[in-house]
Amino acid sequence: MQDTARSLTQAQAARRYQLFIDGKFVDSRTRKTFESINPHDRSVVAVVAEGDKNDVDAAVKAARAAFERTWSSTPPGERARFLLRIADLIEANAPELARLESLDAGIPIALSTPIVGECASIFRYWAGMATKIHGLTTDAMRPGQYLGYTLREPLGVVGGITPWNGPLLMASWKTAPALACGNTVVLKPAEHTPMTALELARLAAEAGVPDGVLNVVPGFGPTAGAALAQHPGVDKIAFTGEYVTGRLIVQMSTSNLKTVTLELGGKSPHIIFDDVDLEAAVANALFGLFTFTGQICAAGTRLLVQETLYDRFVHRFVERAQQIAIGDPLDYSTRMGPLASEEQLRKVQRYVEIGKKEGATLRCGGGQPKAPALADGFYFEPTVFTEVDNKMQIAQEEIFGPVGSVIKFHDEEEALRIGNDVIYGLAAGVQTKDIKRAHRLAKQLQAGTVWINTWHMIEPNSPFGGYKLSGYGRENGLAMVEHLTRLKQVWVDLNDFTMDLFAV
Ligand code: ADP
Repeated sequence: MQDTARSLTQAQAARRYQLFIDGKFVDSRTRKTFESINPHDRSVVAVVAEGDKNDVDAAVKAARAAFERTWSSTPPGERARFLLRIADLIEANAPELARLESLDAGIPIALSTPIVGECASIFRYWAGMATKIHGLTTDAMRPGQYLGYTLREPLGVVGGITPWNGPLLMASWKTAPALACGNTVVLKPAEHTPMTALELARLAAEAGVPDGVLNVVPGFGPTAGAALAQHPGVDKIAFTGEYVTGRLIVQMSTSNLKTVTLELGGKSPHIIFDDVDLEAAVANALFGLFTFTGQICAAGTRLLVQETLYDRFVHRFVERAQQIAIGDPLDYSTRMGPLASEEQLRKVQRYVEIGKKEGATLRCGGGQPKAPALADGFYFEPTVFTEVDNKMQIAQEEIFGPVGSVIKFHDEEEALRIGNDVIYGLAAGVQTKDIKRAHRLAKQLQAGTVWINTWHMIEPNSPFGGYKLSGYGRENGLAMVEHLTRLKQVWVDLNDFTMDLFAV
């Protein structure tokens, strides 16, 4: 536990992390560990206890006991106070958390710093929600005869399985609402980026959250992740990751018919009409595509540009993409860091080759940057393919890297057809000055979020999730209360019992 509280100046040395179960940092039952790698230079940033089935079982038992012993009966106002304390502690530790996020996931510090602030906001939002969760009376059909009312109850133990992009944000999305609704949590962070979820557990303990209410078991997907998804003592899985994994999770959930919500991948269309201000449109398209090196499920990876604007747009977009400051995530001037892992680097390289073979034009990027200072990292240049046909693999499949496909369209009808012609439906965007057209498209685009003249706006109160293979259920906002509680209907006869069917 002391290792996890090292000062900033020691952050470059490899840290040691244990599992967090029942309020304590403990080794895994097997005592196995794995290394978390800094994507900037491949150094080891942390040696982490590797949880598997038995550790997950211990965490679920601790979470169940905490649910029954204390958390489900803790008054909502008290739960809110714990969440507010966690928010304050996130803020108090923000520089260190942002730094760890940059070291582990390669997120530029200029981005990880405000994201940590956002995590505090998430806990505050859900602290406010904790006292507003309640049932309703349902006496209208037979007033005076019966009283009916619903109790809105927590589910029990919620398992959170998160990916490596935005690790603390993902951990906050899974934890804060579940705790606010009265559930206890077992969190399985991604194997590439386990540090900040464990730091969150440390802060929760510091905030006084009772033992067992939040447990964190780092480990690998097919072992720790699968054990959580299959566990009969888990009432719900909240998953973010690839749709192929999402399908497996649903299959595994059938052991006890636990509920599942899935936030999966995307191949979001960003539709740009010729009436836009070119500079603003290019800036928004860069932001939508290259933020966090393109490793965001909602990235605007398919740039659909009206043919009358196409040449001017491509020229300026490529020019600006080439100017993006790539570098060490800990440098405040860096705007694009490395990819998060070697595996991801190989995947992006593979897709660039596919794009070339498919006949798309590689207009910039396509390889690793030449700067010697970046030679050891998983860096990749901002890459733009033009003359892309929407049927191509690079336009249909999620690459999860700094690779964009620019596709030409003629009119609104064609833009809509191409925009929706994909297996995913996470996000979509439209840039135009024509307000009627913007709203028409917002209605017709098959996506859980539509951004008009903006991108990546997601707030604690805005439901975020997918259509089609981008999943089901929503993160954030009131909608989540439905996913994290269940209703019980209670009936009261207000008179003498009147339905004596078997009277003689
Ligand atoms: P990504 O490409 O974003 O890592 P994944 O779906 O592979 O997407 O991983 C997201 C999360 O799912 C990670 O925490 C990972 O460990 C976990 N995971 C991967 N495979 C499985 C599995 N078979 N069962 C349960 N969890 C899994």
